Amino acid sequence: MYNGMILADAHCDSVLRALDGHDLTRKDPDCQIDLAKLRAGGVDLQFFALWTSPSTVPRRASERLCSLLAETSSLVLAGSGMVAPARSHADFEANLSESKTSVVLAIEGAHCLAPGEASIDLCHDIGVRIITLCWNNSNWLGTSAAQADTFAHGLTPLGRAAVRRMSELGIIVDVSHASERMFWDVAEVCDKPFIASHSCARALRDHPRNLDDEQIRAIAYANGVVGVNFCPAFLRSGPGASIDDVIAHIEYILALVGDNHVCFGSDFDGIRVGPEGLENVSKFPAIVDRLLERGHTEATVRKVAGENLLRVFREVCG
Ligand SMILES: [Zn+2]
Repeated sequence: MYNGMILADAHCDSVLRALDGHDLTRKDPDCQIDLAKLRAGGVDLQFFALWTSPSTVPRRASERLCSLLAETSSLVLAGSGMVAPARSHADFEANLSESKTSVVLAIEGAHCLAPGEASIDLCHDIGVRIITLCWNNSNWLGTSAAQADTFAHGLTPLGRAAVRRMSELGIIVDVSHASERMFWDVAEVCDKPFIASHSCARALRDHPRNLDDEQIRAIAYANGVVGVNFCPAFLRSGPGASIDDVIAHIEYILALVGDNHVCFGSDFDGIRVGPEGLENVSKFPAIVDRLLERGHTEATVRKVAGENLLRVFREVCG
């Protein structure tokens, strides 16, 4: 918590750093998130993405996924005084009452899963509460935004079934990295709030990973949320991104759809450097301060800082 506000982040790749030999239970200057920085930043809810390279052969991808799961478990175990897993809102509340950061398991890119609904059930069983449908590669669920013709291909039939199953079970559907067609297919098929965990506003920075106004409105209509990505290349063209660029994207979404549909999606440890003033997760409170300084009400800032993401987590995951 910071200033009495819950702080939450919809996306980071930090567990991958652990697999590369970094010890996130200790302060590590090479990592944008470790347990010390999470606590210093006052973060109450952190989504941790498990990502495997699409170039690994399928069997190795599942092995790597298991290693990432094991790393997350040992991190939670070793840091049990500071962090605890959250599979539901009740878990979050219990963790908050003990001043612990809730760790939510995410999978980024379904290419590490065997095609079929059984994989979605398995994910739910092991505690995964959000799936980013694809990464920069297309997979059995559908087509990535990195594909040449982003309007041509969307969800596959298996993808449609998987999205429905995620809704039934209580797994958040994440459309960051999805092609435009896949985005709109999800908007049609998904009957729960869905999110873009780490994307920015295309009106401010024209990049295939960012969302245009219609997409942001569709997420708002579904009562979902957009996690503003801190990746400098998504925030602005050219060098020199700073915290003010993150503020600009937040304010753009606030002006477009009101204050219930924007949150943080840092992408820490998936980006090489953060914007100036937001170098790592310990700097989250600076966004709160800056928004308040700029005249946003405490109620609005409270929502952006954490309550919006928490609302979706509660509504979808129970
Ligand atoms: Zn990503």
